Amino acid sequence: MRRKLIAGNWKMNKLKADGIELARSVFEKCTVNLPFDVLICPPMSLLGLIADMPHGSCGIGSQDVAETIKESGAFTGDVSAKMVCDLGATHAIVGHSERRTLHHETDDVVRQKAENAMAAGLTAVICIGETEAEREGGEALSVVSRQIQGSVPTTATSENCVIAYEPVWAIGTGKTPTVADVAEVHAAVRAELVKLLGQEVANKMRILYGGSVKPSNARELLSVDNVDGALIGGASLKIDDFWGIASTQL
Ligand code: PEP
Repeated sequence: MRRKLIAGNWKMNKLKADGIELARSVFEKCTVNLPFDVLICPPMSLLGLIADMPHGSCGIGSQDVAETIKESGAFTGDVSAKMVCDLGATHAIVGHSERRTLHHETDDVVRQKAENAMAAGLTAVICIGETEAEREGGEALSVVSRQIQGSVPTTATSENCVIAYEPVWAIGTGKTPTVADVAEVHAAVRAELVKLLGQEVANKMRILYGGSVKPSNARELLSVDNVDGALIGGASLKIDDFWGIASTQL
């Protein structure tokens, strides 16, 4: 039985005061025994501050790590996975569609970042997902299969890796795939993980759905076969929305 993971990706949002307040509200909810795991991924500017707060069972993640395998050196602006870990993080998102698109990150880059995160002791949250044109062209399954094969290290396990299926056209748009489409892609992702990692590892690995998850659609999306949690952008910025989503799993 895979335990669900409710994860918030704050993206480039929140200054210090607001970020601390939001983190505190999430952490308060994580002081009791919950039937699911919770993760927040604040911007790098707040990661250390937030990780130093008492955070109960809540995981804390970065939204990226450096591509270089070096832990330190002349890489202006980069933050290595080891540094992220040193700040107190447990997870790192890699390959978010905004990085793949705006920063031209390829599957090879994403896989290297995932390897770096894992080597530093972090759990990599590897994002995949098709664009609108790819979906309309009937290529959704082939795109996510290719991304799995290209972005997921063969050393991935259910402990050091989580997959997040995020159709690019659903991110921040209010649009979501049908339940049948989500089920189809998640089953295909699981099958591709079996090919890459073997049945045992693949069966235990969590596959999150992300893209316009909100309190009103969370119960339905999270009840789809092979959906083991949610990666939440916009709705993770307000405690009532974030916890409204999480509470559907109580
Ligand atoms: C995301 O960016 O990971 C995301 C899923 O965003 P949103 O929930 O706002 O669609």
